[in-house]
Amino acid sequence: MSIQEAVKSYTDELLALRRDFHAHPELGFQEFRTSRKIEQYLKSLGLEPMKVSTTGVVALLKGRTDNGPVLLMRADMDALPVDEQTGLPFSSEHNGLMHACGHDAHMSMLLTAARILTEMRDSFDGTIKFVFQPNEEIAGAQVMIDDGVLENPKVDAAMGIHIWSPLPSGTIGIKSGAVTSSMDVFKVTIKGRGGHTGYPDSAVDPVICAAAVVQQVQTIQTRLVSPMKPIALMFGRIAGGTKNNIIPDTVELEGTIRYLFATKPGSPDNPTDKFKRMVTDICNVYGCTCSFEFNHENDAVVNDPTMTVVAYDVAKGIVGETNVVEHASMACEDFAAFGDHVPAVFAFIGTANETVGSNYPHHNPRFTIDEGTLPIGVEFLVEAALRYFAGKR
Ligand SMILES: [Zn+2]
Ligand SMILES: [Zn+2]
Repeated sequence: MSIQEAVKSYTDELLALRRDFHAHPELGFQEFRTSRKIEQYLKSLGLEPMKVSTTGVVALLKGRTDNGPVLLMRADMDALPVDEQTGLPFSSEHNGLMHACGHDAHMSMLLTAARILTEMRDSFDGTIKFVFQPNEEIAGAQVMIDDGVLENPKVDAAMGIHIWSPLPSGTIGIKSGAVTSSMDVFKVTIKGRGGHTGYPDSAVDPVICAAAVVQQVQTIQTRLVSPMKPIALMFGRIAGGTKNNIIPDTVELEGTIRYLFATKPGSPDNPTDKFKRMVTDICNVYGCTCSFEFNHENDAVVNDPTMTVVAYDVAKGIVGETNVVEHASMACEDFAAFGDHVPAVFAFIGTANETVGSNYPHHNPRFTIDEGTLPIGVEFLVEAALRYFAGKR
């Protein structure tokens, strides 16, 4: 039986798994039911799943010999605090919670791949570490790494996929280098001196200073960091003042700095360093002072060139060369934490199909997937694992 036929024979089970996960969404580190179901399924394959990081599940599959490399294959498990409005018959049974990012699809695809790879264990040399990871939306990968998921046995490479509504059904997005963004979240408090709007010269106006900040920092990309390095510097909240004729003392600006390349604080191309310097200088010009709060939420997922070739060749065989697209996103993905330690590849499985309503953005209450693309993801995982081991012989 070919891999494609094997996937086809398990399609009913694949859809049932996805719909069951979809109906029972759970937030990060609270994926208790989800975790139990994954454990039961893996046990039914004869594997010995272990709990890691509260609700995470890890299982090893040894191939023909276990002296080959160890490949980590990861699916994320968490849902979002979103009120589902899809009207699907298997909609969320948990009020205010929804699998609005597609992690239900990831778990069901990796479980089905685990079934097929277990049946094929005599055809590869090495070990697969199946990792079901909690709390992707808030950096759960790092918690699993801190809890030792890359050790015993030591992982040599990692692979992950995301079902992806920005790409049409029947396509797979793969690219070497950065494919999801690094993100720093910021809060800037600009301090002036309040007063009467009829006597602006007697006050120090933080509002006009804030306006200059919002405009000027947009020049960081091109003038201070190469135009070839994508940056999205966005303000999501501006707050200050109490009444139309009062100049306030302070204005608060909050937002995100996303960048699609690997950099560290102190590096010449670090956009957050540039932001801090420019905002400080603008405040000086306007006679204001400022204070900052930063939080680095994610690194960029940077695809390893060799792993990308493996994934690209496999994708080409599944959907055809013209349907393999170069794709990267300013969204964040905590899979980056695995790629910080071992060669890794992360691919996007296109799922937008207007006829089934799967063209809403991720995290939207109407987000859904084209279930017809689930078998593509399973086939990709199985073939990519086998191709990886074959390349290491
Ligand atoms: Zn998400
Ligand atoms: Zn996601």
